[in-house]
Order: sequence, then structure tokens, then C-alpha cells
Amino acid sequence: MVKLFQNIIEFLFPPACPLCDAPVSLHGELCAECWTSFDWIDSPKCMRCGYPFADDSQLSEVVLCHVCAAGKCELEWIRSACVYDTVSRGAMLPFKHGGKIKYARFMARAMIWALRDINVDADIVMPVPLARRRLFKRGYNQATLLARPIARAMGVRMDLDSVRRKYRDDMGHKNARERTENIRGVFSVVDTNKIRGRKILLVDDVMTSGATFSELRRVLIRAGAKAVYGVTFCRVTRAV
Ligand SMILES: [Zn+2]
Ligand SMILES: [Zn+2]
Repeated sequence: MVKLFQNIIEFLFPPACPLCDAPVSLHGELCAECWTSFDWIDSPKCMRCGYPFADDSQLSEVVLCHVCAAGKCELEWIRSACVYDTVSRGAMLPFKHGGKIKYARFMARAMIWALRDINVDADIVMPVPLARRRLFKRGYNQATLLARPIARAMGVRMDLDSVRRKYRDDMGHKNARERTENIRGVFSVVDTNKIRGRKILLVDDVMTSGATFSELRRVLIRAGAKAVYGVTFCRVTRAV
């Protein structure tokens, strides 16, 4: 029924770029101009955390960034579709706070593209949980909107309720150390049976310092998870 409704809507409203309304060939797709305005993370990049390198010269021997080479990567691997800059920020904010949930399509598609060089063997896709109070206020978890099409494309289960998040103040203006302190202890696994022995792909809209991923991984591994990976739409690159 939902699908039929969607088909009717799509018939009545021809496909338009979600960002600028220019005509496109497929619903949810960006027009060429908007597409090229993003700083998509292609090669060269760190093989582990996906951190983009400035040029090929850094890639002769080294395939790890200095953070991963020092063994400090937050997860088994991380991929992000694009760099956090004024363009991606301009899409992220209305997506997260302004109800522009239609952006989820192109963002999720870009995130699937970001996973192209990885043999993804996750058996659960988990959006980074939102505290209930925040979820109630916002009406949706933007990470869930991104995780759903990714889980569908991978043909694996999406887990929305095995981990709970406590409400804490916004991390917006905090530095890396304050973020780590602020996030400590916010996640708790409520159903270890669904976590034990599993390989989990975490999904979030943006990776800032990696503190959220790192803390979530800590509680998942403690609950028996076998591996924890991550994928985000964009990532802050100055933090590393
Ligand atoms: Zn456009
Ligand atoms: Zn790295």
C-alpha cells in the first residue's frame, strides 16, 4: 500500500533534485551540478578509517593514516561518502533539524558507494541511537533514515532497539576531549542476545571526532560483538 502510494506520488511529481529542484532522471538523485559541489571521498584514502589523503604521494607505501598506524582507529574500519564542508553542512543541517528527510535517499546511496572497496560482512546494521527525549522532540532519528536503505541494499537486519542512549547535552561546541568525556557511559546494551557474536555496521550522518563510534564500540564489544564497523555520510577531516 505504501509502495502504491509512493508510485502515485512519483507519477504526479516528476523527479527533481532534492537540493535545488532541477529535473533529474531518478527520484531522490542529485542533479549533476549539486553532485559535483560535494567533496566525495575517492582514492587515495586510509584503508582502515577512510581518511582522505591530500595526494597520491602519501600512498606509495603507506596505506594507513597516522592515527590508524598508531593503532588508535575507533573501529575495525570506517567509510564516509564525503568531507564535512560548507556544502555537506548545508545539506546535513536541514536533513537533521529541518525535516528534509527526502535527502536520505541520495545520502544513503552515496554511503553505499563509499563501501565499494570493502567486503562488508556485517550481519546487523545499527543506526547510532538517539536519546528518547531527542527522538521525541525531533520526530525521527536521521541515522535510522540512512541505515534503512543501506540494510535493505545489503540484505541484513536493522537493529533499532538493542542499545539505548541516555540524554546528554549537545556535543556541538565541544572539543575532542570534551566529546569523549561527554559521551562516556551514554550507551547501554539492553539485549545482549542480539549483539553477542555479531558483526555490526554502525550508521551515522556525520563523524566528528569519532568519540561516539568509539564509545558505542566499547559497549558492543563488551556485550560480545565480534566486530564493529562504521559508515557515515560525511566526516570532519581536520580532527585527525
Ligand atoms: Zn541540484
Ligand atoms: Zn586511518
